[in-house]
Amino acid sequence: MLAEQKTIPALGHKWTDGVCENCGENCSHIWADGVCTNCKLVCQHNFENNVCTNCGLVQQISEVKGYNISLKDNIAVSFHIKLSDAALADENARVVFTLPNGKVVKAVDKGEYFEVKVEGILAQNLDSDCIVEVGNLTLNYNALSYGDLALKGSNTNLQNVVKALYAYNQAAKEYNG
Ligand SMILES: [Zn+2]
Ligand SMILES: [Zn+2]
Ligand SMILES: [Zn+2]
Repeated sequence: MLAEQKTIPALGHKWTDGVCENCGENCSHIWADGVCTNCKLVCQHNFENNVCTNCGLVQQISEVKGYNISLKDNIAVSFHIKLSDAALADENARVVFTLPNGKVVKAVDKGEYFEVKVEGILAQNLDSDCIVEVGNLTLNYNALSYGDLALKGSNTNLQNVVKALYAYNQAAKEYNG
């Protein structure tokens, strides 16, 4: 006779909020950019000195200072971002925006803040990827991914950058009819 065996779920783990619905196991999270690569849980960050005590994510942007959109001769959005000490100490850290048309926008060091001025994202590019690199963090942004980002609540400051770009896209869309 065979010894009684522990049932192994045939379907494997089915994670909900870090707990397996099949076997009750807790995921021992493997974090990458604030998201668990195993169970897909999004970290509710708890930043202390710009490092998350839960997932270890280093906050690259410590502050986003407002943004404004100009719609007259030059349709553009500009905003000021402040990098964290961790990002400033990292010699590979950089702030680069690659627009859907391939144009690269570099942040200008204004002392305390970096100023980023983005122009030339037209309404027809709403669904195209805009690559945002801040510090060592890379984000493929487009209007469709905006909703996801807003829901995830992962990096508030990066979301503010994305919100600014989104608002700009909406404004450009209206301006261009
Ligand atoms: Zn399981
Ligand atoms: Zn996990
Ligand atoms: Zn975290």
